[in-house]
Amino acid sequence: MTTTEIATIAVPDELLENTAESRHFEGAADLPALAAGPDTYRFAGPVAWSVDVTNTGEALLVMGTAKATAATDCARCLDEVAYDLEGDIEGYFVMGGEEAEAPEDLEGDEFACLPEDHIIDLVPLIEQALLLELPLVPLCDDDCKGLCPRCGANLNEGPCACADEAAGEDNPFAALKNLKFD
Ligand SMILES: [Zn+2]
Ligand SMILES: [Zn+2]
Repeated sequence: MTTTEIATIAVPDELLENTAESRHFEGAADLPALAAGPDTYRFAGPVAWSVDVTNTGEALLVMGTAKATAATDCARCLDEVAYDLEGDIEGYFVMGGEEAEAPEDLEGDEFACLPEDHIIDLVPLIEQALLLELPLVPLCDDDCKGLCPRCGANLNEGPCACADEAAGEDNPFAALKNLKFD
């Protein structure tokens, strides 16, 4: 077992040379903020990762998990909302350099070639794993009331002064009170 403070794996020769050989690696890495559509997730601390790397004969199969706490802004009220994420890391690195045959049963984005220096960068795999765990729309609560569109007050903290006026405008009979019957 090898522990690192970064998110790269230097593949040892014994693993490269022996089919069916498997090694465990784990570590923690500081990653930059993660962009997911219109949202940006900031990591509260290092992202913990843990993988098994197996020599399949033609490739190195990387499988494991990534764990992190990531925070972003609630889509409605803009308060910070944090998520504990745990996603599956999956990677497939074909050995044999440039002239290696592409695996027949995999799409182009499902595998990569093992770099000549035999160092695997896990960052893209970790980001992919965590992206899949993120909500489509980040909300502090399913019932978040959001911000008042007029004054910007956070309506989760109670109704704002606009509430009464708005109620008046929405009321189809509100105009009647301005009519004079005489
Ligand atoms: Zn909210
Ligand atoms: Zn308001």
